[in-house]
Amino acid sequence: MKIAMLSRSPNLYSHKRIKEAAEDRGHELDIVNTTRCYINMAARRPSVYYNGEKLLGYDAVIPRIGASVTFYGLAVLRQFEMMGVYPVNESVAIERSRDKLRSMQLLARDGIGLPVTTFAHDPKQTDEVLRLAGGAPLVIKLLEGTQGIGVVLADTDRSAKSVIEAFRGTGVYVLVQEFIKEAGGADIRAFVIGGRVVAAMQRQGAEGDFRSNLHRGGSAKAIRISPEERSTAVRAAKTMGLNICGVDMLRSNHGAVVMEVNSSPGLEGVEKATGKDIAGMMIDYIAKNAKPWKTKTKGRG
Ligand code: ADP
Repeated sequence: MKIAMLSRSPNLYSHKRIKEAAEDRGHELDIVNTTRCYINMAARRPSVYYNGEKLLGYDAVIPRIGASVTFYGLAVLRQFEMMGVYPVNESVAIERSRDKLRSMQLLARDGIGLPVTTFAHDPKQTDEVLRLAGGAPLVIKLLEGTQGIGVVLADTDRSAKSVIEAFRGTGVYVLVQEFIKEAGGADIRAFVIGGRVVAAMQRQGAEGDFRSNLHRGGSAKAIRISPEERSTAVRAAKTMGLNICGVDMLRSNHGAVVMEVNSSPGLEGVEKATGKDIAGMMIDYIAKNAKPWKTKTKGRG
């Protein structure tokens, strides 16, 4: 196979591992810097150019599009889809997963457990939004945040209100969420490939932090997850339409609740914690599934 990986950071552990795994299996993998691609939307002859050359002959594209370049990255990925190249995750699915509000609406529609989450446009509704979420302690999240930045725990309704007002004052939207105290500062990342959980780890926040993000000093270890947690993760991936993803869950008193579904999950934490060859599993999945024009939307979005 000839694979293109859309990524701006070839030296990242995940990307080095994916390239290595592809080459070990006799495939060719080119790392293509997403933002340096340019596209030609000629009628019926869509093409992507890179370094002065037209990109041709690829069997699959692995999108590893950073959150900050989502808009352009998805345009490039759509172009590949319209050329009939198999996308490991489709542009439409990635777009859905990048929008926290839309993702939660879709997950809720499909009956997947979520922390109670409320949202409003009008600051005058703040009291009502806090009440609906069950009152303090509450977690307030920036709609556009990543890596735990913009996730705040408010112990009282008063502090929740000031945090919401401060965020709204700067023109950003926030979600208000029930605080899952019983999770004890830990969350579960289930790595899903092709509708199966292939690895799971528990991430524990640094001392005194309720956020378990590894970027914030959290630590990870392999865990066994329950059949219920497994099925929640698989259903969440299916709802989002993602073939490969990381599903983040919290263990709550009312079962596993999904916080987020990540369309470009990192490999370092999960491979080191579980000792599994996740990159290899990704490539094996692609080799089995990559067929020309095998997308749901063919870039129609
Ligand atoms: P980001 O997408 O920025 O990583 P998350 O929504 O995943 O933000 O939140 C970061 C971390 O904060 C999570 O990994 C989890 O440990 C903790 N957290 C988030 N929401 C809740 C919640 N409702 N209750 C308890 N802990 C939470």
